[in-house]
Amino acid sequence: MTFSQKNAQKEPSQQTMQVESLFKASMKEEAYRCTRERLVILREIYESDSHLDADEIFVRLKKKEISVSRATVYHTLDLLFKFNLVNKIDLGHKHTHYEKSYGVDNHLHIICEDCERVVEVQSDELNKILEKLCQKNGFTLGSFSLQVFAKCREAQNDTRHGNMKP
Ligand SMILES: [Zn+2]
Ligand SMILES: [Zn+2]
Ligand SMILES: [Zn+2]
Repeated sequence: MTFSQKNAQKEPSQQTMQVESLFKASMKEEAYRCTRERLVILREIYESDSHLDADEIFVRLKKKEISVSRATVYHTLDLLFKFNLVNKIDLGHKHTHYEKSYGVDNHLHIICEDCERVVEVQSDELNKILEKLCQKNGFTLGSFSLQVFAKCREAQNDTRHGNMKP
């Protein structure tokens, strides 16, 4: 530990530290090797507020001069998903995006089909509806991550896009 402010990495949040110990415990339980690379990938996801894909994580780490292979990124993401520490999301790209799930409330993603803007919405009403729907079908609601594809206002007002005739 260094107390120097120079080149100091941002201290991980308490949530990140908690998830790290959960991850370590799960790996130990299932006899996975707890490597520095795996922890670095977990930290990258939990210290970010966006929905990253495997390639984005790889590039971010590369920029920080942390060398991790693409295969390790993919494998670690699978592991994190298996341990319920990340959610998979479909943003309409041809690959999967990931986001932190531990300590995060269930939410809805509204994704703009034109500009790919993503807005996260939490709604008690939606929670209640989903709870009811699950109950009706003999289930108890667990976690969820929903995607809705829509068009944002900016895109609709932007006449440069699309082939709309006046
Ligand atoms: Zn993507
Ligand atoms: Zn848009
Ligand atoms: Zn989200």
